[in-house]
Amino acid sequence: MTLHRARKRFGQNFLHDQRIIAGIVAAIHPLPKDHLVEIGPGMGAITQPLLDSGTRLDVVELDRDLIPILQQKLGSSARLKIHQQDALKFDFCSLAEAGEPLRVVGNLPYNISTPLIFHLLDQAHCIRDMHFMLQKEVVDRLAAAPGCADYGRLGIMVQSRCEVEQLFTVPPGSFNPAPKVDSAIVRLTPWDKPPVAIADQAQFAKVVAQAFTQRRKTLRNNLKGLIDAAALEALGIDPGRRPETLSLAEFAAIANRLV
Ligand code: SAM
Repeated sequence: MTLHRARKRFGQNFLHDQRIIAGIVAAIHPLPKDHLVEIGPGMGAITQPLLDSGTRLDVVELDRDLIPILQQKLGSSARLKIHQQDALKFDFCSLAEAGEPLRVVGNLPYNISTPLIFHLLDQAHCIRDMHFMLQKEVVDRLAAAPGCADYGRLGIMVQSRCEVEQLFTVPPGSFNPAPKVDSAIVRLTPWDKPPVAIADQAQFAKVVAQAFTQRRKTLRNNLKGLIDAAALEALGIDPGRRPETLSLAEFAAIANRLV
């Protein structure tokens, strides 16, 4: 077997726990008619069982040293395409055929998971669903409800575009090398019909980012220059509230007022 030393700069923690791998594949439930894209296949821990399901699969891997290992292990399958590229710059929609949105999966490199999720949200129109392994703390933030300590910009931005389902927790011992923290599997499904109407995504993103510049301060303070207290009151939102108490609908109402 080819040996590969895990590289920290590529966020490499390889899954070896067969029970967890089977749980991830069962949660994805790939079918032969599906078109999957795996980000960071590594040495193929999830790739192999995904291929065994008969699905079409494109994989995007940055570390060029892993490509011959993947080719040796899986390269003979006509249903597999290996792309040696940076997922942060990858045009996922270029793989999608009309009317056949992609299913994106990956045990993501934790050091780039947030920018990668934002990159994928920009391409949500050609994605059916996403299943990711992330640090548990990040999954908690993705799924957090208003009023929770974990609720903030990341959760609001993702929830405005996708349904978020926390699936299960994965302990450090399931990986080699073992990370220092717990991990978790999350399913993100882009909404067919979003729960709130957002007139302009860029304006919404700006309002949410500015509202959370100082978490302990009020909306009146954080949104200064964007919207004044009287306009917030006219929307039925008390300017003395803190950003983490606002619902998705309230953030959308503020952003839509500014378009
Ligand atoms: N899927 C494998 C597994 O579960 O054992 C490996 C997961 S490991 C946490 C993350 C993988 O993402 C590594 O193979 C790493 O080389 C790859 N990676 C890191 N940065 C990347 C990037 N920008 N684009 C694509 N792949 C990347």
